[in-house]
Amino acid sequence: MKKILVTGGSGFIGSNFIIEQITKGNKILNFDNLTYAANQDNLLEINKNSNYHFVRGNITNFERVSSKINEFNPNVIINFAAESHVDRSIDDPKEFIDTNIIGTYNLLRCSLDYYNSLSVENKINFKFIHVSTDEVYGSLGEKGYFSEDSPYKPSSPYSASKASSDHLVNAWYHTFNLPTIITNCSNNYGPYQFPEKLIPLIIISCLSGKELPIYGDGTNIRDWLYVKDHCAALDITINYGQSGETYNIGGNEEKTNLEIVNTICNILDEKIPLKNGLKYSDSIVYVKDRPGHDFRYAINSSKIQSKLNWLPKYKFEHAIAKTIDWYIENQSWWNKILNNQYDLNRLGNK
Ligand code: NAD
Repeated sequence: MKKILVTGGSGFIGSNFIIEQITKGNKILNFDNLTYAANQDNLLEINKNSNYHFVRGNITNFERVSSKINEFNPNVIINFAAESHVDRSIDDPKEFIDTNIIGTYNLLRCSLDYYNSLSVENKINFKFIHVSTDEVYGSLGEKGYFSEDSPYKPSSPYSASKASSDHLVNAWYHTFNLPTIITNCSNNYGPYQFPEKLIPLIIISCLSGKELPIYGDGTNIRDWLYVKDHCAALDITINYGQSGETYNIGGNEEKTNLEIVNTICNILDEKIPLKNGLKYSDSIVYVKDRPGHDFRYAINSSKIQSKLNWLPKYKFEHAIAKTIDWYIENQSWWNKILNNQYDLNRLGNK
């Protein structure tokens, strides 16, 4: 059994990760500050499990992080906690600097103090995993892929803050010998994703009879990975990843934003046809592009495939249909968010 301290475990990827780890019999301490993006409902199915513990806290708070690490005594610390939405980073970058940069720095300091206090045997078993994004590499043209050796060239305040945090993690490995690993993953989708992100935004807008906004001409390309494949890659990284290494994680499923929106519309036309004879895609509207919008991201994930034997299991075609079903079946989950935190209106366009 592993003892894993998860930061940001009440968000989208963190909660999917915790559910999987609890199912495997591991013990979890979820350390989360419960920002707008957190949702304790995500963890309802496991929150009575005796292996699951939650504590509210901010990763920028040295005393709180330190005391919780020392009380829990983890073998693994995995950092999901972040401000994660590019559009919000355009409206107000400050929280991104605080959480993503200062928070990661603070977590590294606390983790190093803890690591240095461990016995030789426990040191061998300890890992610090930093969950990052392919956006740190900037934008690609029509051709090519990001590899672990691609230079960092972030464009948005979000990606710049994640890039900074990656550099700090590498510095703590090289300078202080903290056993760290960084993973850089492409765009995730699946259950429990906050509705500001493209896929849940479009599904929920369709189900709520709202317009479907497309930034620019909709030709920007992203690589998409089902969240359960990301969680499996992180599990393999925890068990077999090498300290000091970076692993790129991607689904090899490149789509334009317009393709994503049309796919969702077509599936919903089949599942819940509109009564007025219209198609969901009739509600597409083209809006002003995101400032600094990266054209294309694509990931070469051959390193994690060959070294750690990870492969994505879910094809986009099937997993997007599964995801749409989840949002259809869990309307109360997203209605609560629409009533309290976010009304589907555009961000990042002040
Ligand atoms: P999310 O926004 O859904 O969740 C973030 C979580 O972090 C929330 O529960 C929030 O309360 C918590 N948090 C924020 N600030 C905190 C602080 N100061 N202290 C403690 N907790 C705090 O994010 P997500 O989509 O689940 O992403 C998780 C991680 O994965 C992020 O680091 C993100 O950069 C990275 N990532 C995301 C994607 C994606 O497609 N969503 C892709 C690659 C990498």
